Amino acid sequence: MPIRVLTPETAAQIAAGEVVERPASVVKELIENSLDAGATQVVVEVSGGGLKLIRVVDDGLGIPTSEVEIAFQRHATSKLTDSSDLEKISTLGFRGEALPSIASVSNLELVTRYEGEQAGARIRIHAGILVNREAVGRPRGTTVQVANLFQNVPARLKFVKSTATENGRIGNIITRYAMARPSVKFSLTIDGRKTLTTNGSGELREAVSSVYGPDAATAMLEVSADEGGLAKVRGLAGPPTLSRAQSGYVTLILNGRWIQDRRLNYAVEEAYQNLLMVGRRPVAVLLIDVPPEDVDVNVSPSKTEVRFSKDRDLFSLVQRSVRQALVESSPIQSPTLAVSASASPPYASSQRRPLGSDLLGWAAGPRAPETDTPAAPSMFTKTTLPLLRVVGQVSNTYIVTEGPDGMYLVDQHAAHERVLFERVLKEISESRVQIQGMLAPVTVDLTPVQKEGLIQVGESLRAHGFDFEPFGDSAYVLRAVPAMLSGRAPDRVFLDILDSLLNPSIPYESDERSAASIACHSAIRAGDVLQQELMEEVVRLLERAESPHTCPHGRPTLVHLSSNLLEREFGRR
Ligand code: ADP
Ligand code: MG
Repeated sequence: MPIRVLTPETAAQIAAGEVVERPASVVKELIENSLDAGATQVVVEVSGGGLKLIRVVDDGLGIPTSEVEIAFQRHATSKLTDSSDLEKISTLGFRGEALPSIASVSNLELVTRYEGEQAGARIRIHAGILVNREAVGRPRGTTVQVANLFQNVPARLKFVKSTATENGRIGNIITRYAMARPSVKFSLTIDGRKTLTTNGSGELREAVSSVYGPDAATAMLEVSADEGGLAKVRGLAGPPTLSRAQSGYVTLILNGRWIQDRRLNYAVEEAYQNLLMVGRRPVAVLLIDVPPEDVDVNVSPSKTEVRFSKDRDLFSLVQRSVRQALVESSPIQSPTLAVSASASPPYASSQRRPLGSDLLGWAAGPRAPETDTPAAPSMFTKTTLPLLRVVGQVSNTYIVTEGPDGMYLVDQHAAHERVLFERVLKEISESRVQIQGMLAPVTVDLTPVQKEGLIQVGESLRAHGFDFEPFGDSAYVLRAVPAMLSGRAPDRVFLDILDSLLNPSIPYESDERSAASIACHSAIRAGDVLQQELMEEVVRLLERAESPHTCPHGRPTLVHLSSNLLEREFGRR
């Protein structure tokens, strides 16, 4: 083929791929534009996961009539004048790519009226081509409506996930910005359902309340630190009792922009060291302000990654300021107290060691040069288990047993999880799910993301014995839980199970995922001291399980150290 210059439409579609990856990225770009325009109110509506329609209405400055077309040209922006401005960016946008990119992959309509102008303008662009432009009236501000997103880019459409998943991502973006800008009134409506509203009062705690619910917002502790030329950190951090089973509850706002930064996240987690049980994650919203010249936001087209020139000092400041809030505002709880107060973790990540790596300290000891490296202990591969005699417990985590061929170490949590998983599935298939009704119903506050997720997995949770119904805008009342979970705090366990279903680590389809999650939250935990009878009971149950060798997550329930292997290790053979 001869070399040719691509048509502007094709070139625009290619470039759009970087900026608008999915419906949520369109929502993000549009609300960032509204915020840059000084909006005090941002109304977002989506339908069909954002593929059918995304509409963002703001009361910002508007676009002058004479500039409406220019806004849709690539690299056209009102936010930079020359490259030196790149060194101190104070707006969310600056690349001048969003509008042309979105317009090239959708049917877009923009209506705007600029402050001080009599009439506004409406412009319609279909797949990058201007189809109509006229004068119209509207109050000051801008409305952008994006219909049929990606219909002209089938390749992109294929990568868009289910409606519920995309709705969840959209909810996630809006909630982060609602917390980033408490003085802006946000509302989000998904398929006609009011999913989030904030009051724009300027109070972070009130915005957080709209997102995480009033109980969480009330409990959260004030973070505040000001270190001269380095940074100012303010925000709210959950006390250790507010922890969650999944990550994603730390929101970092840098100079008004929602960012994702692994190291800063880590700094926050560090602040909670020894206060949270293994596997539990903190909830926090931090508004960090640094001098614009100390940060580079021009790292990726989506602008969610940034680089700091004084990164070490900043990480240390974030860690210290959160830690201080935790220490000052609440008497430090001993780790054991925090443990007994929180719901069970899926499992401690430190337990995930490779088979046979250091179980018996092999790596440490000297080895006779002529012997082969001993084979790693095999995971027991027969389908049924032999009878095992319980010898004792190690690290409050493993049950030591003896069988016909040596030693078998059983992971108490994984084993119990397997047993309960099979029990739940059996109860479901025989329609005799055991339910525990509650004397007093409990209310749980859901985030917009959780609410959307509940639409997806609610039926499966009901089938497993949860009974709940909507209560107001963002809360639910919980009336019953699966009997297996009685004894656990119902609201926490409900949220944890919901979260784990939305972030699946379990390779199954919905019903089995729910079963696995319920089993995980009901099972004996790593760290629980077990009496002899209880250990025997767990081992008996495991012996009778259908697939005793792995837990529902696919981790082994036991490790076998054969007599042969033991003899070799002790130099008897
Ligand atoms: P950028 O935000 O990087 O400047 P965009 O393509 O997102 O690039 O927008 C181009 C320009 O259109 C902006 O610089 C701004 O002047 C104008 N604009 C876009 N959306 C709005 C809005 N909601 N209100 C006012 N002006 C807007
Ligand atoms: Mg922009």
